[in-house]
Amino acid sequence: MQSKSNINNLSRSFSKKYGPNTLSIITTYRCTSKCEGCCFNCGPDLPFYPEFDKISGFINIALKKFKTIKLVVFSGGECFLLGDELVKLVSFVSAKKIFTRCVTNGYWANTLDNAFSVLKKLKEAGLTEINFSAGFAHNKYVPIDFVVNGIVASARLNITTVVSIESNSKFNEKVFLGSKEYRDFIYKYPEKSKLIKIISTGWSLLKKKDRKYNVLSIDKGCETILDTILVTPDFKIKSCCGLYVNRIKEMDIGKASINFDKPYYEQFDDFLKIWIKVEGPIKIIRYISSLEADLDEPVFNHICEACLYIYSNKTFRKAIAKHYKNKIEDVVFKFLINKEINYRSEKKLIGYGI
Ligand code: SF4
Ligand code: SF4
Repeated sequence: MQSKSNINNLSRSFSKKYGPNTLSIITTYRCTSKCEGCCFNCGPDLPFYPEFDKISGFINIALKKFKTIKLVVFSGGECFLLGDELVKLVSFVSAKKIFTRCVTNGYWANTLDNAFSVLKKLKEAGLTEINFSAGFAHNKYVPIDFVVNGIVASARLNITTVVSIESNSKFNEKVFLGSKEYRDFIYKYPEKSKLIKIISTGWSLLKKKDRKYNVLSIDKGCETILDTILVTPDFKIKSCCGLYVNRIKEMDIGKASINFDKPYYEQFDDFLKIWIKVEGPIKIIRYISSLEADLDEPVFNHICEACLYIYSNKTFRKAIAKHYKNKIEDVVFKFLINKEINYRSEKKLIGYGI
């Protein structure tokens, strides 16, 4: 939503002050799994073209342009397919005193010994956090025992460990407590087990009966938009790490070129992005629906589904254009307060899986 109102000047002035805190790199769309509902339709047959020099070259540019970046995330697809190249990338970033996170399905942790040997190299390279994706869709390809090996090895190596688990009534956080290895680990290493955080997430294929409209998890401002720069395997830049980022053209902000900071800053002229950042898509939908008798408030499994709804529903977009001006003052005020409080805090970047 490009507005020519006073918001633009204000936005430009704070865009100079605030930059992204996270650079997130989708290293490849190839994956060992082919989970139903995968946001990027990743799978074993997709091309694999990560090149260390190209990725590290872009990281250098990004870190020079934005001194605000504190964390570099390597995801996919499956970034562990990069093998030693991943270790080199983590080492390259850590040497610059920037936090690192790898996101994985844990396919490589088929035994505890294998999990240790893979993670030891990454720990020595300086890895700050590992984020395992698991759940009822992932479990078809990677058994939960592999994920348990991965998280136990990771926590024992003192790596901050997050598990994002897409939950339904049968498959949720409790599956870990069903594992003897996990229970033994908690018993033997109570301090190290504090490094593990298990987060329940939504999944697009959840059946209606399994839908839990969890207010705390999805009715909130978006953590990644304007704070994260996402780079795709074909070196395009996206505004956020959303599930449907490739289906929302407004999240496409150009190529990973030397001048990519310009389109990043121009986003601050887009009030809708600031509104999504501050209040989140669910609140926007609730607000607009309350003003328009013809619009219902649908139920969503995931915060990004709500965003896709906003961007793809023409009637809804028209209604936003009609009403958004009433929200500018309040949203911009909250944005500034939020930034002033959060931009100093590095702690919130690690151990939250965002
Ligand atoms: S493990 Fe993740 S990236 Fe791979 S197919 Fe499943 S959801 Fe997609
Ligand atoms: S909520 Fe919207 S802006 Fe935020 S990550 Fe999801 S798609 Fe992107």
